Amino acid sequence: MQQTRLHPGVSVSGPGDVERKWSTMTDPRQRKVLLDESEMPTRWYNVIHDLPTPPAPYLHPGTGQPVGPDDLAGLFPMALIEQEVSTEQYVDIPAEVLDVYRLWRPSPLYRALSLERALNTPARIYYKYEGVSPAGSHKPNTAVPQAFYNAQAGIRKLTTETGAGQWGTALAFACAQYGLECEVWQVRASYDGKPYRKIMIETFGATIHPSPSDLTDAGRAVLEEHPDSPGSLGIAISEAVETAAQSPTTNYALGSVLNHVLMHQTIIGEEALLQFAKVGETPDVIIGCTGGGSNFGGLSFPFLREKLAGRMHPVIRAVEPASCPSLTQGVFAYDFGDTAGMTPLMKMHTLGHDFIPDPIHAGGLRYHGMSPLLSHVYEEGLIEATAKKQKECFAAGVLFARTEGIVPAPEPTHALAETIAEAERCTETGEEKVILTALCGHGHLDLAAYDSYLSGTMTDHSYEEHEISDAVAAALRKLPTIPG
Ligand SMILES: *Cc1c(COP(=O)(O)O)cnc(C)c1O
Repeated sequence: MQQTRLHPGVSVSGPGDVERKWSTMTDPRQRKVLLDESEMPTRWYNVIHDLPTPPAPYLHPGTGQPVGPDDLAGLFPMALIEQEVSTEQYVDIPAEVLDVYRLWRPSPLYRALSLERALNTPARIYYKYEGVSPAGSHKPNTAVPQAFYNAQAGIRKLTTETGAGQWGTALAFACAQYGLECEVWQVRASYDGKPYRKIMIETFGATIHPSPSDLTDAGRAVLEEHPDSPGSLGIAISEAVETAAQSPTTNYALGSVLNHVLMHQTIIGEEALLQFAKVGETPDVIIGCTGGGSNFGGLSFPFLREKLAGRMHPVIRAVEPASCPSLTQGVFAYDFGDTAGMTPLMKMHTLGHDFIPDPIHAGGLRYHGMSPLLSHVYEEGLIEATAKKQKECFAAGVLFARTEGIVPAPEPTHALAETIAEAERCTETGEEKVILTALCGHGHLDLAAYDSYLSGTMTDHSYEEHEISDAVAAALRKLPTIPG
């Protein structure tokens, strides 16, 4: 077989195809593909415009009828409600939002040359890195426009929940940019166990409470029954929503799951498309982790547009934790977005709204449901999904840190584990696939999780396989019935 020597240490075997593709690259040793500020995309992409069928509407839990703008107006500004139901292909990014995006965007696309060498793979691995943002993840891509549209509508304060703290940090930063107050309820277990996120949230000027708290009816009800409750995302959502609903100048903000959130994140994929064009490559496989689906949708939807138009043919693959497998083991059904059952009913892949996932370190992936839009795209057969256990993920995270020099957040180690598995398949078959993976955040505030892995105390999950299916089956029996 012909050996193509790219640069010292890397040799790729294969037919002339490699040389042809590489000849378009300015420098085969190039590690970073950067865009100028002036090249930053100025529109978000709405994939709903291009899908063969539209996703199912959200339903009012009381009437079973599709929710209208008025049902959401108590919590969200009209600009975001319009984006939530929009079928326009593109939405212009406001100048005030672009201005804040430019603090860290365009974000870099890296070629993982050192990882490729370590794997001795003919695959070419690229990662789009969102850890350069003020919060260290992709979350500010939506926190900033959400804060902007609320400020523009005269809102004075935003409330939200946060689990591990990434979303609370992003919203606290975004609120500071536009002079909004911000109040965050953080799941008690994380509040106690991960103090640095709390300090960062306070540094950005927000107020933070452990949830359950005695500040809301929802919190007091839980505390009365369980004074030592470790909390859950569902309880924290209830506290934030209750507080927002009580004041006309306070709104609520959600960091994932909803259509407008996924749309804001498409700036990631639009930039990546331009970066791939610069090096004359197209991805064969796109891999990302999914909690609520926003970083994965954000990277992959612009490529899905190209795929639907027949211009590219990437396989698009979501990776979820084996202990919270909503796409691979959940059902596609109407369910609540929160544990308490306060939200509209959304048709999505779900494990049941009272499914309590194992306390794995990838806190951002511990959500019982999946974005209704991403669930719909999955049902249409346009994307694939797989599940990974956390020790394989941390092994991938450690290899990535030692080769590429970035300690990944626990969430994207799921994408990295699948990326490495794909690259190893290429080593066996000799295929020279181009792999694009979403490195949606760094893990500098998650080092305790790495400590647990390195010291050998980490377990995969306390559930056995059959227990997961039993827990899921029990949760699914409690799916809501739709009135009417
Ligand atoms: C919040 C978060 C996630 C999970 O949310 P998605 O909406 O699925 O992207 C994943 N990774 C990081 C770093 C996060 O902060």
